[in-house]
Amino acid sequence: MTAAVAGEIRLGAVVGGSFVDIVRVDPSLPRTLVELIAAGESALAAARRAVVRVSELVESTQLPYGLVVPIDQVVVLSPIPRPKRNVFCVGRNYLRHAAEGARARGEEFKPPEYPEFFTKPPEAVVGTESKFTLSDSVTGKLDYEIELAIVIGKHGRDISRESASEHVFGYTLANDLSARDQQRRHGQWFRGKALDGSCPLGPVVVPHKDLDPAAISLQLRVNGETRQSTSTGDMTWGIADVVHWLSQGTSLEPGDVILTGTPEGVGNAMRPPTYLAPGDVVEAAADGIGLLRTHIVGSVT
Ligand code: MN
Repeated sequence: MTAAVAGEIRLGAVVGGSFVDIVRVDPSLPRTLVELIAAGESALAAARRAVVRVSELVESTQLPYGLVVPIDQVVVLSPIPRPKRNVFCVGRNYLRHAAEGARARGEEFKPPEYPEFFTKPPEAVVGTESKFTLSDSVTGKLDYEIELAIVIGKHGRDISRESASEHVFGYTLANDLSARDQQRRHGQWFRGKALDGSCPLGPVVVPHKDLDPAAISLQLRVNGETRQSTSTGDMTWGIADVVHWLSQGTSLEPGDVILTGTPEGVGNAMRPPTYLAPGDVVEAAADGIGLLRTHIVGSVT
């Protein structure tokens, strides 16, 4: 987890509802998650040892002040607050979502033959509890999309499906906020997917070995009402396929983020279509990862 603790941005681990300042336990650890990822498996092992060391300190009541802070006393930031380059995204990776999109456009449904990719700019990335300012002049059709996100751990290109997991550091949760009117109007999807603050990401990155990415239950709620509820097992292209296809002739680097597509239940496909409005609270939740909450607010006129 990346958090602001007493005004300072710190890399930590979440243990039992508290933020554990692992860099204070072991000052040789990198200061940011992307640096920790780039430092390889030995750095992750050292971070895990720091967590164990803190548990020992807690038990021996020798805990220095500020090493363990209740989560509600820190400001949780996106685990990768500003990626080095665009966030990669897969479109239409759940068949029922691809079908509902075709129906909403009045088209016949044909499953995509290959994964479709687009990107969101680094400036789109924000953390949980962020406010998204909805401006009427920009979009009248803002929509949500809960997605499992891959965080790449190791440089690679032309990665085979068999070795894909070696290139994954871990997983987090994303909300691919989409301006449907812009998405349709401009032909390619980028325009409607690229708004500032349109990629809430977090709250934590869970290391690859601690989670089965094919069995994560995803739930998205708007003002408490469940809109999307699916397992990641329903993906058309799983993690290995996504890493394989995206890396054909394109290098993937430590800290790269890949959104893996959203399941059915988006507002655009509701009858009638129902878009996000000022005052809405959007909660994306995933077992083992946590809750990513976004507040939609109106622009000040
Ligand atoms: Mn999406």
